[in-house]
Amino acid sequence: MSSRRHFLQKITGSVIAISVLPKTGMTMEPHLQDLPYEGPVLRVAIMGLGGYGNRVAEAMKACKKAKLVGVISGTPSKILDWRAKYTIPVKNCYNYENFDEIKDNKDIDAVYVITPNALHHDQVIRLAKAGKHVICEKPMAINAIEAREMIDACEKARVKLLVGYRMHFEPNTLEVIRMRKAGDFGKIRFFQGLCGFKIGDPTQWRLNKALSGGGSMMDIGIYAINGARYMVGEDPVWITAQETKTNTEKFKEGVDETIQFQMGFPGGAVASCLSTYSLNNLDRFFLDGEDGFAEMLPSTGYGPIKGHTHKGELNKPIVTHQTLQMEEMAAIILENKQPIVPVDGKEALKDLTIIDAIYLAVTSGKRVELNLNS
Ligand code: NDP
Repeated sequence: MSSRRHFLQKITGSVIAISVLPKTGMTMEPHLQDLPYEGPVLRVAIMGLGGYGNRVAEAMKACKKAKLVGVISGTPSKILDWRAKYTIPVKNCYNYENFDEIKDNKDIDAVYVITPNALHHDQVIRLAKAGKHVICEKPMAINAIEAREMIDACEKARVKLLVGYRMHFEPNTLEVIRMRKAGDFGKIRFFQGLCGFKIGDPTQWRLNKALSGGGSMMDIGIYAINGARYMVGEDPVWITAQETKTNTEKFKEGVDETIQFQMGFPGGAVASCLSTYSLNNLDRFFLDGEDGFAEMLPSTGYGPIKGHTHKGELNKPIVTHQTLQMEEMAAIILENKQPIVPVDGKEALKDLTIIDAIYLAVTSGKRVELNLNS
């Protein structure tokens, strides 16, 4: 290899590294991340070329261990655009009718499902039957029964099932988890999770139960559920929940606008959470223990994630969440790497069991007992 080509590869490696390095206070000294990568690469097809699919595809440009090589889409014009933009060969392009044929495509290892929630179940099961590893967006399914069927299908097909829990790799989030495990906050007593945004267009699939499976809880409230679990470090044993609706035209039957819910944990901690489609500026986690606290604000947006604890500011590197997620997921699939916080189907099943319980608590008005580890 000529030294010029070698130099250019090194430069490419440096560019690749930028999105997972801190944006401030960082010197660009030679670093392991700057070296050319020669290990295995996870070849990924994205299913559903919408808003988030585009974000993931752009972020994957900076990945070393994962590469976008295919698409599955119901919109031929998008396939054309993506083929040109990401140099995707025509043989790696599918639609929703013919994507079972992906089983014969040796050039695709995994499919990232980024379609409306209620479609995930059937799509993931079809992909498992086609022998492909699956990364599925959150919520993995629209209830726990579906989630179990997806886990079973992937186990039977001996493929991995991962869920797009990007916060499980976010450095400041992991720092709070590290501090909690080290006992820095003492006995955990309280968590607050506020998650919401004002949703616009009333005709979008997120407000159509047949495609969304629910309302704000499926979309944004799930961050408070999942966050409570990784911040407290336990799974809840009871749930209470109350729903309020100010607009029954926009938020029809089965599409929750706002739900407040409370969770009790085995160690005695309680969580108080809000999920809503009717308020902006709600992206905050607060964890309180007998010896200290952590506040994340914002806590789950695309970043930068900011926060502080009783010991000072959190100052871990600012990352592009989806780049880091795909690097880590490639390592989980290719190298059997174990993430600090699980991102598999069983993790998603817990969140969906809690969502089922929240909806039951809303309709029954009663406290729902849970045993997520049975
Ligand atoms: P979009 O509406 O922007 O895109 C969804 C895409 O799914 C469409 O563009 C379309 O792509 C495909 N699709 C297939 N069938 C349908 C259908 N019947 N109606 C509408 N679209 C269809 O949604 P998002 O990208 O925002 O969300 C997709 C998934 O990603 C959801 O599960 C959501 O919860 C999750 N998400 C996760 C985020 C995270 O931070 N982890 C952030 C945002 C979303 P095509 O035309 O190519 O077929």
